[in-house]
Amino acid sequence: MSNCGCGCSAHAGENAKNKEIKKPVVESSCIGCGACVAIAWEAFELNNEWISVIKKLDNYEWKHVEDAVSACPVWAIKY
Ligand code: SF4
Repeated sequence: MSNCGCGCSAHAGENAKNKEIKKPVVESSCIGCGACVAIAWEAFELNNEWISVIKKLDNYEWKHVEDAVSACPVWAIKY
């Protein structure tokens, strides 16, 4: 069945399957302070160069991601 774009419930599962997962991005300006990891440990981790990276997840706790964005001292997290 193709996606008709009508939004009807008959295509809801198909629409969800085709929807891309919204994911935060850490830019190269990260200084590795660890604030985002402390706030949203489920979404961020520091790599072996002490730069924050995004964990690969099926979903993200957006309240935590938003809090991490606010806490980042160099505005390195975009979403
Ligand atoms: S809060 Fe910002 S600077 Fe600190 S580790 Fe996370 S992305 Fe990097």
